[in-house]
Amino acid sequence: MFYYSTNKQSPVADFKTATLNGQAPDKGLYFPKTIPVLQKEWLNHIESASFEAIAYDVIQPYVGDAMPKTILQNITAETISFPIPMAGISNRISSLELFHGPTLAFKDIGARFMSRCLGYFAKTITKKITVLVATSGDTGGAVAHGFYNIPGIDVVILYPSKKVSSVQEKQLTTLGNNIHALEVKGSFDDCQALVKNIFSRHPEFPSLFLTSANSINIARWLPQQFYYFFAWKLWDKKKGTPVIAVPSGNFGNICAGLLAYASSLPAKQFIAACNANDSIPQFLKTGLLEPKPTIPTLSNAMDVGHPSNFIRILELFQHQLPELKNILTAYSISDAETINTIRNTYQQYGYLLDPHGAVGFNALEKYFRHHPQDNGFIVETASPLKFYDLMEPIINDVMPVPAHIQHLLSLPKQSRIIENNVEELASFLRKM
Ligand SMILES: *Cc1c(COP(=O)(O)O)cnc(C)c1O
Repeated sequence: MFYYSTNKQSPVADFKTATLNGQAPDKGLYFPKTIPVLQKEWLNHIESASFEAIAYDVIQPYVGDAMPKTILQNITAETISFPIPMAGISNRISSLELFHGPTLAFKDIGARFMSRCLGYFAKTITKKITVLVATSGDTGGAVAHGFYNIPGIDVVILYPSKKVSSVQEKQLTTLGNNIHALEVKGSFDDCQALVKNIFSRHPEFPSLFLTSANSINIARWLPQQFYYFFAWKLWDKKKGTPVIAVPSGNFGNICAGLLAYASSLPAKQFIAACNANDSIPQFLKTGLLEPKPTIPTLSNAMDVGHPSNFIRILELFQHQLPELKNILTAYSISDAETINTIRNTYQQYGYLLDPHGAVGFNALEKYFRHHPQDNGFIVETASPLKFYDLMEPIINDVMPVPAHIQHLLSLPKQSRIIENNVEELASFLRKM
């Protein structure tokens, strides 16, 4: 499989080169030249296939001959070595729980897959691979855990000071070793801008092989298709083809869902559930894509004013807005609606949604008001435990915090505070 850049100015790359580069040299995002189609026969037998077999079959065409079969089989099996259940909430809405991995959010899957691919490719690179990543909350922990102690790779994580939850902060600042956490006095967009700026100055760091672990990297983006095929395996087919609501920030996850759909995954509609950061819901309404400054919300991992992966969705639909709108609906949900949804689903159904899942649930309910025959599921992207300090006052109840979380919270934070200043970051990297 070859990947071209969405800016069309860079040469095509195979899976290995595209994974190592992260972003294409012309600053575009890599996009597969062809979309593999999964056979009807394969989809019809999905209920009897194992998660490992499904994951391997989905990703193999994208990896091509960049890796031997047994290596890729091991990597996919390790990537998904935790439960991924579908839980019922109401009679129309289920929850695909993607938060049973080590950092309690769906990003574990992409980060585990990418770190193992990079670890395999690192053996052929003589320079020290340095993964630079900006996080709005969950990426940092997932990437830190994915790459922890992988030989030949250092990770530098930039996160916005005071804008991540205490569990999130501890997940990315307590590992040490090859994981370096930088606490930036600024927003997530500032962190992302710092990372972009450093990439444009790559030649100034001749001893480092710099790459990114943000969701623009194909090795993080593509394995997210697994969720949607697992969901189809688990889905009660008597309920018809599902409407799928995806809490969205940088739009990597939902873009993987739409890619799966292009490969023949059955789906009735995708719902992009956004918080107050509404540039995509506005775009689908007006046709104008206007990046906006980030608005901080309760669903902080979705606080993205300028979603980088949306360009891939446009590419997938060949920039044909009417076709995109046939399958994609977007809603912007306020913090007040998020709080009400958490409280109501807890009281009514005994199901505790995290703030991101609550945005998804609310958006799906809105859609269902106009589609009374449909059923569907939300992609529950994080565990409510990750936000327990925020959740308890909302549900007016105590959430038992499991021992491993209590232990995490007791560990000392190891981070370095930096200004929102690229020179400070550059000098840190020169000393690595
Ligand atoms: C990252 C994240 C999102 C947003 O995912 P995107 O792929 O950036 O759209 C949603 N929910 C949680 C919990 C996250 O960590």
